[in-house]
Amino acid sequence: MTRASSKPTTTAIKTAVANNEAEVGNQVSESSLDLTVELAAAVKAVRLASHLCDNVQWQLRNDEKVEKEDGSPVTVADYGAQVLVSWSLQRSLPGQTFNMVGEEDSADLRTEEGGPVLRRITDLVNHTLSECEKEATLLTPEDVLELVDAGRSDGGKTGRHWVLDPIDGTRGFITMRQYAVCLGMLVDGEIGLGVLGCPNLPQWSVSDVDCNDGGCDPYDERGIGCCFAAHVGRGTYAGPLFVADKDEMPGIKVHVNDLLSPEEVRFMESVEAKHSNHVLSAAVATEIGLELPSLRIDSQAKYGVLSRGDSSIFMRYPPDSYREKIWDHVAGVMVLQEAGGVVSDAAGNKLDFSQGRHLPYLNGGLIAATPSMHRLIIAALAKIKEDKTIVYGEGPTYRT
Ligand code: AMP
Ligand code: MG
Repeated sequence: MTRASSKPTTTAIKTAVANNEAEVGNQVSESSLDLTVELAAAVKAVRLASHLCDNVQWQLRNDEKVEKEDGSPVTVADYGAQVLVSWSLQRSLPGQTFNMVGEEDSADLRTEEGGPVLRRITDLVNHTLSECEKEATLLTPEDVLELVDAGRSDGGKTGRHWVLDPIDGTRGFITMRQYAVCLGMLVDGEIGLGVLGCPNLPQWSVSDVDCNDGGCDPYDERGIGCCFAAHVGRGTYAGPLFVADKDEMPGIKVHVNDLLSPEEVRFMESVEAKHSNHVLSAAVATEIGLELPSLRIDSQAKYGVLSRGDSSIFMRYPPDSYREKIWDHVAGVMVLQEAGGVVSDAAGNKLDFSQGRHLPYLNGGLIAATPSMHRLIIAALAKIKEDKTIVYGEGPTYRT
């Protein structure tokens, strides 16, 4: 396909699906693993942490300053969410060895300046517990430090490791856009389950109002707040995030929508241009015949949006020097794969989550999409790379 020729035909799309399954593999996996109990524990933990984050965001909406002496609201919510996930998982799964790869550690909280921040986190966590877990014993600052440090696992090829991003999309959190509480589990280096709590995501299709530079509408009558839960080999389920019973499992089975033609397809990318090269994604979109502008959404909410068919593509082109952290993808990848989507690096290789806290370099980026769109993008990227008129490189230096 040339740049000018454009739109892939239906036959091209069908061929793309078949080839894709042969290469990256149909990523809806079969597995004998039974993580039913762990998935239920993860949903409950994510609901609890999302409640904390949502409380803090409402304070921010009511004009609380972003920078304060005893920690910015986002810092406090980040630690608080990690503490609650760590607390809730260990309480739900007594007797299980607990390893977690978490974004935060307690080093800063143990310094003199960290004292007020630690007290504020402890208050916030206890406030959430008193609202949601009335029987729970309240936590001391020492408990909080210990629970934060439960996230110090390095992951790796063997054993079970929870993987947590307590607030993914901090810019989205601060600016009232999308963010997500993301919790997954690795079993011997492969993803076993993934849960996304997306407090600002509409329960119906997203629109430009919820994405791009616009903030979400917290009074949306359709309801906001979505939870996605996926177990390897058993599909992805979605449901409301804020429910009275935190043990409730999301009950609507979701699947990617691979029936759209390129002119109907919307693709997603980060809002932040420094996280992903918007010029390159626009070039790829043109190459495969997309006509609609991108939806720009913060956080792994993008994987949830893709899994339920609101969009068909998520492209991510970070600077070449950037190495992705596993907690930025584990939960979202499971949610997407179990809904029939495909994820790979920009060269079409499967992502390897078994190498510790970081992913290996991604050959230029990460592509998550429906099977047919994935195949088209990998082919388009190979072509663009060969095209001598294009400088393929980092961030703003890229040009068409
Ligand atoms: P997004 O919401 O898609 O913009 O992605 C948010 C995630 O991007 C954050 O959780 C960060 O870990 C990650 N991030 C931070 N800096 C970079 C960067 N330079 N390139 C790509 N991702 C980044
Ligand atoms: Mg993150």
